[in-house]
Amino acid sequence: MIKKIGVIGAGQMGAGIAHVAALSGFEVIMSDISMDRANTGLTLISKNMERQVKKEVITGAEKDAALARIKTTTKFKDFGDCDLVVEAATETLDLKLKILGEVCKELSEKAILTTNTSSISITRLGAATDRPEKFMGMHFMNPVPLMKLVELIPGIATDQKTFDMVQSVAKKMGKTPTTSKDFPGFLANRILMPMINEAIFALYEGVGSVEAIDTTMKLGTNQPMGPLTLADFIGLDTCLAIMQVLYNGFSDSKYRPCPLLIKYVEAGWLGRKSGKGFYDYSGDAPIPTR
Ligand code: NAD
Repeated sequence: MIKKIGVIGAGQMGAGIAHVAALSGFEVIMSDISMDRANTGLTLISKNMERQVKKEVITGAEKDAALARIKTTTKFKDFGDCDLVVEAATETLDLKLKILGEVCKELSEKAILTTNTSSISITRLGAATDRPEKFMGMHFMNPVPLMKLVELIPGIATDQKTFDMVQSVAKKMGKTPTTSKDFPGFLANRILMPMINEAIFALYEGVGSVEAIDTTMKLGTNQPMGPLTLADFIGLDTCLAIMQVLYNGFSDSKYRPCPLLIKYVEAGWLGRKSGKGFYDYSGDAPIPTR
């Protein structure tokens, strides 16, 4: 039985995972490198839950009960009674290897360890732990409270019992899990990012304008937003990093990042977060930059 969940990292994703876990009735301990950062994550959770109360998605009492279930820390020693841990720290291989090595020393023998990595091999991370058979990928989507999907990624050594347990936790969190084998990009990014990259190639080659590409895909394929708008939301640096993972991971030229995407990232035009990407966000309404 999973009762207590440890979340490593209180950033965008860690806070989102702690939010959903606490609302689903799990006890949560969330860590970051300083109490300041951990508590910033907690404040974000509180604000987002308040928004859910206003929208009548949850009640005020549910919010209070969930917040009372979340504790923050900077020490993995506080993870000793966790049944499941989700690592959601910064996407750097060396950092994740270090974190996983350190947290294992504090975990009970039966604890399951998972990672929310978007791009690093699950098998490689699992091999660095003392429990590769109890290690797997649990890939949430951003923003976690709103997005229904969790990709479950067993590594080569993950046992069935671990997989079943993590799948049941994802369901208890109200998510719909899918299963992906451990290959670059898993499923969502493997399919989504080449589409975004192709949209950028179409822009680069002058096949269509920003507006034409987004309207075509939005209305023609019934997507809530066009691929260039979506790229600006995700962050063009993140899109480029994922294309590079696919390109290097498969050594296949079909994944080469579009030179125009590289140029935008070089310019610091990273999308919404920098105020400019395929659209300029400085005015009231976004204006296409090409
Ligand atoms: P973020 O930068 O918002 O948060 C990362 C947090 O990790 C920071 O608060 C940082 O201080 C903390 N951290 C760094 N070292 C730590 C340590 N030793 N112990 C505890 N905390 C530590 O990043 P994010 O967007 O939340 O991404 C986190 C993970 O989730 C990454 O692996 C990323 O690939 C993955 N992910 C991100 C998205 C997304 O859209 N942002 C989607 C799915 C998965």
